[in-house]
Amino acid sequence: MMTDSSPSSYPVDALNRLKRRAERGHYDHETVHGLLDAAALAHVSYIVEGWPVCTPTLFWREGSRLYWHGSNSSRMLRNLSAGEPACLTVTHFDSLVLARCGFNHSADYRSVMAFGHAKLVDEPAEKRQALRMMVDRLFPNRTAGLRQSTEQEINATTVLAMDIERVSAKVRAKGVVDDEEDYALPVYAERIPLTLVCGAPEPCARLLPGVSRPIGLEQYREGLPLERAVLAAHRAAYGD
Ligand SMILES: Cc1cc2nc3c(=O)[nH]c(=O)nc-3n(C[C@H](O)[C@H](O)[C@H](O)COP(=O)(O)OP(=O)(O)OC[C@H]3O[C@@H](n4cnc5c(N)ncnc54)[C@H](O)[C@@H]3O)c2cc1C
Repeated sequence: MMTDSSPSSYPVDALNRLKRRAERGHYDHETVHGLLDAAALAHVSYIVEGWPVCTPTLFWREGSRLYWHGSNSSRMLRNLSAGEPACLTVTHFDSLVLARCGFNHSADYRSVMAFGHAKLVDEPAEKRQALRMMVDRLFPNRTAGLRQSTEQEINATTVLAMDIERVSAKVRAKGVVDDEEDYALPVYAERIPLTLVCGAPEPCARLLPGVSRPIGLEQYREGLPLERAVLAAHRAAYGD
């Protein structure tokens, strides 16, 4: 296995080294962690009885460990808790790119593929802490003001952890790139930027009188980019 020259990078081998567009690859902690922490949604892929399955789920990172959770009856969680190999992917979809020929149509993006073996988190204190962070990594310190989870709720929930064994980030941020001779064509081309933004919050219709939106949720305001809110929340929750 080769390692990147920097100690703050993940190891690189045949599994995670980019072959196509290798110059778009990043393996350093800063890039990989930044992209993971700016996302709440991931897709987890694994094989069930010979079929590839790809499940969208909320997730979060602690150091080089990724966590996600779900109901005990989830097929994804039942399969992965046996230590199956898995790949967790995150995508930030930044633009659609319209070029002067079909071949050069593209997209700008920042994505991460993390490989490892998912394991059940069954040690009670670690499981409780993980379930707390599932909420607090998005809304720092929110669990402190919530009704405590019951043993029954905790027992009905499966938490998985996956140490990142290999990982790659791939970034395209170029907009329109055409073949030199095609710039002479009378064909319209453009980049359409894309951003996932928060909508206007919709308070629960059954709030008790006097219960108002707590401070600390300002980042989740109409029109603000979700990834900025999620990244700021992660940094506030973990202090990094
Ligand atoms: C929003 C979006 C749209 C895309 N649209 C297209 C498209 O239309 N056509 C197209 O060919 N490609 C597209 N890509 C790129 C695509 O994800 C793959 O990178 C590409 O198809 C090469 O796949 P491969 O398995 O041949 O790569 P290889 O370079 O052979 O993969 C080797 C290793 O590189 C790493 N790697 C590869 N791709 C990624 C990635 N995206 N993110 C992180 N690590 C990666 C993984 O560790 C992988 O195991 C898109 C990506 C995104 C995020």
